[in-house]
Amino acid sequence: MQAQTVRAHKHLHLRLVQAPLVGRLAPPAGALLQRLQHKGLCCGLLHQQKNFWHPSCQPVRAMASWPSIEIGGRKVEGISIAGQETCIILPQLSLALDTGRCPQRSAFQRTVLLSHAHMDHIGGLPFHVATRALQGLPPTTVVLPSCVAKATEGLLEAHRALDGSEMRCDILPCKPGDELVLMNKLICRPFQTFHPVPSQGYTLFSRKQKLKAEYIGRPSEEIRDLRLSGQVVTEQLETCELAFTGDTGPEFITAEGSADALRARLLIMELTFLDDKVAPESAHEMGHMHIDDLVDHADKFKNEHILLIHFSARYSAAQIFENLDDRLPADLRKRCIPFMNGFLDYSKA
Ligand SMILES: [Zn+2]
Ligand SMILES: [Zn+2]
Repeated sequence: MQAQTVRAHKHLHLRLVQAPLVGRLAPPAGALLQRLQHKGLCCGLLHQQKNFWHPSCQPVRAMASWPSIEIGGRKVEGISIAGQETCIILPQLSLALDTGRCPQRSAFQRTVLLSHAHMDHIGGLPFHVATRALQGLPPTTVVLPSCVAKATEGLLEAHRALDGSEMRCDILPCKPGDELVLMNKLICRPFQTFHPVPSQGYTLFSRKQKLKAEYIGRPSEEIRDLRLSGQVVTEQLETCELAFTGDTGPEFITAEGSADALRARLLIMELTFLDDKVAPESAHEMGHMHIDDLVDHADKFKNEHILLIHFSARYSAAQIFENLDDRLPADLRKRCIPFMNGFLDYSKA
């Protein structure tokens, strides 16, 4: 299907799948379009099907439909290019990790975890909040470092003043040591990261009740009777499902609070610089990781999968693969998946 962008509101551009009939759109987009048409806000999508592009109907930026990848049963979408935009979308968890420019699919995620307030990570937040409000979806839950909460409220307040709309959202400031229960029932614990501005990463845990070791293998009737007699036969099992670093220098690898991130089933980690044209020391000064950091600390990563994001735009897709293949130890390389959305020549790599 061909993706197109329509000016659906005087301030708001929405990417919708080209659809001769509204009913063919995915339900949220179809419902939105019907509401916009009803209000007279849509620029005549239906009668412009053949000659869709209208002079006043240009997209804000080139829109592309980035592929979704699957890692250990988890779908991952979005885009991440250093200095341009980072937004990792986990649709099964209704979660967006940072929102640099709010890709269209990002706004369908209920919760946004913000690692820090650099523009390429936070710039899309007002758009995320406004889009959900416009669609009548529950307000965005925004989890962010405590020290940037006030300024972020100010950012949204400025947009409310400009837009005249309510832009409701729930802001949850937090810091390392805190614990939050997200809408998807995962337990969220921030951890310290190292960047020139205040920053933090997030670990997400699932909790399950599991039969205590001493009862495993016993008949189910016996377990039931024990339970009825008041015996506690289960214990809580906590698994670190996912960790997200946001932008950070390599200090996080050896930091005390990073143990859970380094054993998360899926670690989503920045790796900005991949070759010797940028020295590791220069990368560290900017608060970013260099591939040498992964090589030096290869034994510390116990993760099943590591999604590498935030490559510098200086690299082509071929160079990204070449450097990872040449420089990472084999055991680490086979667990690393480079996130290539946004690197346009990735299909040729
Ligand atoms: Zn960044
Ligand atoms: Zn940054």
